[in-house]
Amino acid sequence: MIPLVHPIFGKEEKKIINEVIDSRVVASGKYVEQFEQQFAKLSNAKFGVACSNGTTALHAALLACGVKAGDKVITTPFTFIATANSILFCGAKPIFADIDPETYNICPKSVEKILKTQKVKAVVCVHLYGLASDMGALLKLKKKYKFALIEDACQAHLAGYNGKIVGAIGDASAFSFYATKNMTTGEGGIILTNDKNINSLSRQYINHGRSGHSTHTVLGYNYRLTNISAAMGIVQCKQIQKWTKQRIKNASKLSNGLKNLDFIQVPIVQKGYTHVFHQYTVRIKNGLRDSFMKYLQDNGIGCGVYYPEVIYKQPLYKNLGYKGILCQEAEQAVKEVLSLPVHPALSDKDIKFIINTIKDFKS
Ligand SMILES: *Cc1c(COP(=O)(O)O)cnc(C)c1O
Repeated sequence: MIPLVHPIFGKEEKKIINEVIDSRVVASGKYVEQFEQQFAKLSNAKFGVACSNGTTALHAALLACGVKAGDKVITTPFTFIATANSILFCGAKPIFADIDPETYNICPKSVEKILKTQKVKAVVCVHLYGLASDMGALLKLKKKYKFALIEDACQAHLAGYNGKIVGAIGDASAFSFYATKNMTTGEGGIILTNDKNINSLSRQYINHGRSGHSTHTVLGYNYRLTNISAAMGIVQCKQIQKWTKQRIKNASKLSNGLKNLDFIQVPIVQKGYTHVFHQYTVRIKNGLRDSFMKYLQDNGIGCGVYYPEVIYKQPLYKNLGYKGILCQEAEQAVKEVLSLPVHPALSDKDIKFIINTIKDFKS
């Protein structure tokens, strides 16, 4: 079986984790600070605040950007549930904008339609599968309608947009270092920002609202990263650029092999974007997705559907009162997308096998 996900670890991770254990400083410690600085630097951001995971990073980033109970926050329904849930954690209301059918990211036109009729506190865009959202269009809307722009970059470590790296293009961002992401600390996350105020507020929200040694200013949480995880992150940071290049190479080989098959739409990457291929996601046309997926699995190729349902159709959201077809393109995408292996541990032989197996599919 060629797995869809394959986290990579080496001797260096084992060595540094052992060293942390021997030091007995296993909760907060020097590696947390080092990791924050290292990952922020890689992403060209001024500040990094390490968190226990990507979801807590999103929650704290929203709070630090001033999202409060009763506020409205626009996001996409075609993402992991944590994106929208973090809005609910704040007591705010997610408003779903449709996606662009080519990039699968939030469609700025659909966002503006909502902004024209409602006062919105924030927009959470998602750089889905490792491809940046249309930040230029979203920044223009931010200027015109005044809202906080938060990047859910949980799948987009080092993704590029017009010469920039995602993470500090909006007001703040959240990354995840979960085991399946492009780099991992087991569980882990980080908030990036260029804003001094958002940085210090984020720090308070992830640490019981603490502002001085024993002064608690806001209602905060314990969302801190451990020294063990951070140590692992430091080692992974050294590899992420190399791994990213390998993902891009693998994706390009897959696209070259698959682009002429008429039932498959390979990923579309517009000029100015560096897609980091957290997932290599194709669109399977003619209602063939589910039979094609079974065929791949029967032939030893791991694959997955991200995501099989729009968020507002999940029982949790239905019970909150969401109903009807809110986002047509997103509802089409959930029926057609399929992610194939693209991780840096794939061999050329694996890639050839994937392409040849797909070419043999009799639809
Ligand atoms: C992984 C992910 C999250 C949540 O990150 P965790 O570390 O699992 O909490 C949020 N949003 C998106 C788009 C993700 O892919």
